[in-house]
Amino acid sequence: MNEKEELIKFGKKLVESGLTYAFFGNISVRKGNKILIKKTGAELFELDENSIVEVDIYKESETDKSASVELPVHREIYKNTDSGAVIHAHCPFAVIMSLISENNKIIPIDGEGKYFLNEILILGGESGSEELAKNASCALSKCKGIIVKGHGTFARGKNLRDAFITTAMIENSCKIRYYVDAIKK
Ligand SMILES: [Zn+2]
Repeated sequence: MNEKEELIKFGKKLVESGLTYAFFGNISVRKGNKILIKKTGAELFELDENSIVEVDIYKESETDKSASVELPVHREIYKNTDSGAVIHAHCPFAVIMSLISENNKIIPIDGEGKYFLNEILILGGESGSEELAKNASCALSKCKGIIVKGHGTFARGKNLRDAFITTAMIENSCKIRYYVDAIKK
């Protein structure tokens, strides 16, 4: 499977798994000094060869305009880590937990979450902003996934499968934490 086919496959998987919906969220992979990323406005569930654009990691250009608005965040993550793929998703329970959490992190209470994630940082910053790019890439140089408050997750990995698993684990840990906290109240 080539990079574009992988992006199409995981775009669909993200929506089918309920980790995001419609065109909210975006995915990318590294290809040498380039990033292959979803175009702005393209629906994740129905990506095709034409809804993916190739941009440079280190040089900005006119082509950047057709890429997802979160390109600056993806770009900064590739610059600061050795990641092969980045997934941004509007995971519902991750968003809920980021809004009701009184701290700037969520501590998972489920087995995998405790073991693989330890804690999930909640960051601030507007979509596609320099602030978010800086905060997210800095945090992701030390962990595999974070939540942007009230917005969604960013996860990185050696490939899309790896970033997908981290996204799913964050959402699962948030869902379990949400229900357990609610039942205890
Ligand atoms: Zn988003």
